[in-house]
Amino acid sequence: MNRLSALCLCGIFGIVGYWFVDDTRAMTVASIFRNLVAGNTEIDQDHFQQAALREVNARRSEQNLAALKADPQIHEALSRFGATQNQLASAELEPLFATLQRQFPGAQYLSATVLLDPSDTGLQSSLAEWDDAGNPQYESLSTLAFRDGLRQGCIAVLSRRLPPFDLEAANRDGGRYFQTCPHCQKAHAIQLDRAAQTVILACPDCKKPYDVLAADPDGVFRRATDYFEGFELPVPVSPPSQLPVDRMIAIWAAVLTHCDYEYDHKGSDKGEAWKLPSRTWSDGRGDCEDSSLLLADALNSAGIEARVAVGWNIHIGQHAWCVARAGGRQWILESTLRLKPGQQPKPVAVADGADEYQPEQLIEPGRLHFRLDGRVRAGCPDYWSPDHWGTLAQ
Ligand SMILES: [Zn+2]
Repeated sequence: MNRLSALCLCGIFGIVGYWFVDDTRAMTVASIFRNLVAGNTEIDQDHFQQAALREVNARRSEQNLAALKADPQIHEALSRFGATQNQLASAELEPLFATLQRQFPGAQYLSATVLLDPSDTGLQSSLAEWDDAGNPQYESLSTLAFRDGLRQGCIAVLSRRLPPFDLEAANRDGGRYFQTCPHCQKAHAIQLDRAAQTVILACPDCKKPYDVLAADPDGVFRRATDYFEGFELPVPVSPPSQLPVDRMIAIWAAVLTHCDYEYDHKGSDKGEAWKLPSRTWSDGRGDCEDSSLLLADALNSAGIEARVAVGWNIHIGQHAWCVARAGGRQWILESTLRLKPGQQPKPVAVADGADEYQPEQLIEPGRLHFRLDGRVRAGCPDYWSPDHWGTLAQ
């Protein structure tokens, strides 16, 4: 390939994913006052919880900690759990944790305890003195009060929950969210790294990537697949009678001729963004991912199957290129070449370019493909084979 266009960097690739806090570390089991006889009668649960919140928040206020609030959904789940227990005073908390984590995958922190006291006020004081109730990590308190013989008891749950990941909300408000991995179904926390322009979301549990996000020139993150817009080149490029391979080359040549390679300014505010194909065309320039998106979009619109590959080029480093399927073969189409006047570009068969071009993700309208072997810095002989690529609909 033309080395003049080889100065191409595809941005800072941030792998984002955090473990939730270790269950055992956040778990507190107080087994005091066990083996008392359960004797539940009507208790005003909302009233008890409000009183508990007042007591706990008074202590948190002394420590300059934010007040805890109620979490009606956890409160409800706690009530349902209570209904399954014969003796709340000796309830095992591990099944409660399992239930809450299953129902609320965004539960980043959870702690629970069982408290008993001869008096209501003593119980509230015990709750306020509970060490975890003075932990700044928690945002809400839910309680289930009960009677146990002559004593009062309660199961208290402290929690902090993340909302499910929402790209629009993350763009608007930032912050942390939870995401359920589409591969292994386990939940984890994510936070967009604003300094990164291209973010590959990967599961911290099974290690598999499941989404590619990229910032546009306004700094708004979009799914990589959303950069396809069905763009058709606004210039005539080939007669319909042409063979698919010749049409592919003609469209490729039109993109190379029209669009100059533009080096993204690494570290600047405006650099490294991904552009929509129509924008790259109207600007008449773009970097590797911009021009490969434009080319793949224009090829797809012309009925030629094409994808954008994101990965590694042995001469360039991080790179994006176009791959197309025409005439029964797969072709690597480098979108950052500079043509001499009258020069026609020559496509490279995928097998011949496998040493130089090492794809990690493939992007096409509505679908992302990830290497099944999990390998990086390795060529691939087939960009369409389900033996090599796993597919996620977006
Ligand atoms: Zn996973």
